[in-house]
Amino acid sequence: MIIYLKKEISENEINELVQALKNKGYKIFFIFKNIVKIDGDLNNFDMTFFKKFSCILNFQKLNHPFYLVSREYKNDDTIIKIKDSYIGKKEEFTLIAGPCAIENEEQFSKIIFNLKNLGIKFIRAGLFKPRTSPYSFQGLQNNGLELINNFKKENNLLFVSEIVSIEQIDKLDKYVDIFQIGCRNMQNYALLKAIGKTKKPVILKRGFSNTIEEWLLSAEYIMLEGNENIILCERGIRTFENYTRFTLDLSSIPLVKKLSHLPIIVDPSHATGRWDLIEPLSLASLACGADGLLLEVHENPKNALSDGPQSLKLENFEELLCKLNNIAKTLGKEIK
Ligand code: PEP
Ligand code: MN
Repeated sequence: MIIYLKKEISENEINELVQALKNKGYKIFFIFKNIVKIDGDLNNFDMTFFKKFSCILNFQKLNHPFYLVSREYKNDDTIIKIKDSYIGKKEEFTLIAGPCAIENEEQFSKIIFNLKNLGIKFIRAGLFKPRTSPYSFQGLQNNGLELINNFKKENNLLFVSEIVSIEQIDKLDKYVDIFQIGCRNMQNYALLKAIGKTKKPVILKRGFSNTIEEWLLSAEYIMLEGNENIILCERGIRTFENYTRFTLDLSSIPLVKKLSHLPIIVDPSHATGRWDLIEPLSLASLACGADGLLLEVHENPKNALSDGPQSLKLENFEELLCKLNNIAKTLGKEIK
């Protein structure tokens, strides 16, 4: 339950209220000075209790443990502004595309040149790759930062890259426009809190073993520290199915839209691990109400150092763009 207090409230009034709630056995958390979250067994809560406290303006029952990311806190959709672009506008659908990882200057410059020619503004480019096997390519790491910088200056593009530790925040901040928190770090609460203290837009991927509630609670960690610029990303969850790498949970899109004001994008590349399923699932994500896509595209997927089997070739990406445009038109949206 959330209790809204008057703006002007004395220490005494707060103390009295807190003591009375504690006596009833409730846990109290001040989200802001005048917004209090109380937890405990609220089934038999006697609402007349509130009448005794003139400092209380209103109260609201919640059906879930998160608040700041919920529609109860903010009914209007959150739109994230990144330089001159937006993610989360009702009339837009954002494409973020690029290779799983930056491999070398030649690979990176070719893919950027081609994606830019296709009108892509947001580039995904992994530097720190949290791979399942320690023997797999781990990304160029710090050595790739200058590459991003050079392309940024020349091309006026926006870059998304994964951040895996708190120490990287200051360094990456200068080069990257949107931080990505990968599925393996969705519950790295120290990292979430540290990113919450910045104002940097952040893509928060759903952990592959996490429920929607756990995912939204992770977003709540970020927001509680003051950063509202969160973009949720559905990237598939682990099920018993083996034909795909994970199972894309399309139902999370309309569900998250009901529960939260935050924008949600979809990553069908990591969800399926198969380039041949990207097109139908991308179209379905758009039709389901997602705000955009995060896609892996590679010049030569066969030779990619990571995630080649799930990377689209440029020609397939171009075809997909065409089909997305058609559906977007019907939905009154524009592909950005
Ligand atoms: C990625 O986008 O490069 C990535 C590693 O994704 P995920 O965290 O969803 O596995
Ligand atoms: Mn990848």
